[in-house]
Amino acid sequence: MKIVLQNLTKIFPSRNKKSGEEVVAVNDFTFEIPDGKLIGLLGPSGCGKSTTLYMISGLQKPTSGKIFFGDDDVTQLSTEKRGIGLVFQNYALYPHMTVLQNILFPLQNLTGADKMPKEKMIERAHGAARLVQIEELLDRKPSELSGGQQQRVAIARALVKMPRVLLLDEPLSNLDARLRLQTREEIRRIQKETGITTVFVTHDQEEAMSISDMIVVMKLGVVQQIGKPQEVYDNPANLFVAKFLGTPPINVFSGRIEAEKLYIGDDCVMDVPGAEAQEVTVGIRPEGFVLSENGPLKCHISNIEVMGRDMSVVSTHPASLNASVRSIIDADHMPGLQQETVRYAIKPHKIFVFAKETEERIRFEVK
Ligand code: ADP
Ligand code: MG
Repeated sequence: MKIVLQNLTKIFPSRNKKSGEEVVAVNDFTFEIPDGKLIGLLGPSGCGKSTTLYMISGLQKPTSGKIFFGDDDVTQLSTEKRGIGLVFQNYALYPHMTVLQNILFPLQNLTGADKMPKEKMIERAHGAARLVQIEELLDRKPSELSGGQQQRVAIARALVKMPRVLLLDEPLSNLDARLRLQTREEIRRIQKETGITTVFVTHDQEEAMSISDMIVVMKLGVVQQIGKPQEVYDNPANLFVAKFLGTPPINVFSGRIEAEKLYIGDDCVMDVPGAEAQEVTVGIRPEGFVLSENGPLKCHISNIEVMGRDMSVVSTHPASLNASVRSIIDADHMPGLQQETVRYAIKPHKIFVFAKETEERIRFEVK
């Protein structure tokens, strides 16, 4: 089922009546989440991800704007009536209940026409447990499970009602690195198997990029960009998005455009046909550097890190806005770098130019 967010806004009143300012947690968010897709809601802490999710779930009411599930306006509908499954960072299982009882719980609370016979509930609970591969744990208490297993139980509990929409708020944050990787693959598998439209909130760009059909990047309550992960990475709308996506992060320089040429410090790095003369900020992805004897960008080597398949040359440049410039070079193409300086050519699709003041992308034709 598609979900439509229409000019969704949430304003929290100030806590301090005298001087406090209200918080615009989510500001005019409009987006149609396609049916059956997994959407990653991504941004730094405090940018409004959870608030957006809670509005979709009905736990919070929007200050203005509307929410549709399919063609139904659910804006005023209570959480229970929306047909959603919710999973939080802290699994929030009932400690005194077994895994099976935890998973059954949402079904036992159904009333009226939704009420189910006991055998059917148990069958459903087993189905959900099978989906998240915890069938052999059904008799245990939550305290007898690892963090990853507890989170699977929480996911099973969210799925058991066969929700129309699955909402996950930083579900992997409490897991260690390996479990995080494994569990996110699980979530992706389950989402694909069930085809449930899913919103996955995270502050971790790699996590969002790896499992989402589309990502929404937010900053201070405002959507910055929406697109397929690779598209957003390859084509960031502004400096914030460029910096937020990618590990190692994009290298940022101060630069200027003069006579349709782009300068980083004194180095004239490329032609920018049609671009107006101005001060700019330049971003270059680490994989965008090519070692080249006559390359235009001249850096001072500080260190070379061997990472197996790739090598990372750490260097400095007078116009760099970061402490160091980090390039990733295919180890097969790495000559012995004996000298103190290194010259780079730059792959044209890996360099982005932003207006210095607005930090919006400046576009020009790449030859
Ligand atoms: P995120 O999930 O991206 O970390 P949140 O949606 O939790 O961000 O919060 C967005 C903003 O709204 C933050 O500035 C936060 O302090 C504020 N906020 C969230 N919930 C409340 C609330 N109940 N009352 C007041 N301010 C809130
Ligand atoms: Mg949050």
